[in-house]
Amino acid sequence: MIYLDSASTTKLHQQVLECIKNNMENYFANPSSLHKLGFESEQLITIARNCFSKILNLKSEQIFFTSGATESNNWAIQAAYKKNKRLGNILVASKADHPSVLKKLEAMQNQHNCKIILLPVNKDGIINIEYLNNTDPEKIILISLLWVNNETGVIQDLNKLIHSIKTKFPNCLIHVDAVQGFCKINDFRFINSSDYISISAHKIGGPKGVGALIVKDYKNIEPLIFGGGQEFNKRSGTENISGIIGFAEAFKIMHENIKNHYSKIKEFQEIFENTIKNSVPEVIINGANSNRSPYISSVSLKNIKAEVLVHTLAEKNIFISTGSACTSKKNSYSSVLTAMDLSKEYLQGSIRVSFFVDLEESNIIFAAKELLNALCA
Ligand code: PMP
Repeated sequence: MIYLDSASTTKLHQQVLECIKNNMENYFANPSSLHKLGFESEQLITIARNCFSKILNLKSEQIFFTSGATESNNWAIQAAYKKNKRLGNILVASKADHPSVLKKLEAMQNQHNCKIILLPVNKDGIINIEYLNNTDPEKIILISLLWVNNETGVIQDLNKLIHSIKTKFPNCLIHVDAVQGFCKINDFRFINSSDYISISAHKIGGPKGVGALIVKDYKNIEPLIFGGGQEFNKRSGTENISGIIGFAEAFKIMHENIKNHYSKIKEFQEIFENTIKNSVPEVIINGANSNRSPYISSVSLKNIKAEVLVHTLAEKNIFISTGSACTSKKNSYSSVLTAMDLSKEYLQGSIRVSFFVDLEESNIIFAAKELLNALCA
């Protein structure tokens, strides 16, 4: 099997799997229980939280474990609105953002009458912040930035954007959806300059159903779920201990190896894209003119049905996708590639091939050749 769909979810690192297994077998007690076993469970969560805070140079209270980045994104948007609603009502994201941001914004519009502005992106997938030039700068209370696009891998220049947002919009909070870049792209500078950051375990070799929201003004964030007071009284519910521990383990592995992984994956991406480009001159590599994550290749083929290609390759045990897993079942063209103004004859032939650290070079060569064979068939 050659699994090339890691942008939708990664396989667990072996070490993470062992860690989770050990945890589930031996530390099943509720961390809120007063007895010794409960205390041990609670300590494991503290250790996991401290692992993030130490490496990322944060206070441990700034890290709230959630059920994943969908929840983190929803929470950040809601919390930013609650915090700044007396100052304005404009929430901003981009047309190429993830549905967990876009749908939440739609809900904010319906429920709270917020005004939503979606920034356009250019052909290379880069957002145009100048689009806000005619908007009352004081009314903008949140800008949500997608660091690495989950379909194309296009990287936004966060540090430049954050600087420009801070100088132009005095009441604006900044949220970063860092899911696809976290521990894959070696840049952590934006963490200190953002108000909210969403991350997810299952994109870095950790388990599904666990993520975190990192919050600057952690003391004042509006709670998301009320109940037993877990997560510093902000997100109640018995903790997903094994998930949290697995997340911390995956984080450590990925953080320690970020540079070796990057160069290994970059080679994979080059081999894959060059093999296709050499045989199919009309191919479009989306976002090719931008700074891009090596972990994702978005490839558009003229007058091809991507779905057929995905199935043909699946028969050979090679797994790719037509786009984001969150939108691929909806029978419509990718909103990200549409926002990048990709023409219709290419839209329907768009596939996403995403790489991870468990692959070998031979897997990439084989998959690229099989893709070419499928195109000729
Ligand atoms: N944001 C981005 C950019 C993503 O790729 C994903 C995962 N598809 C999410 C948010 C949602 O993450 P989760 O699956 O942890 O809810």
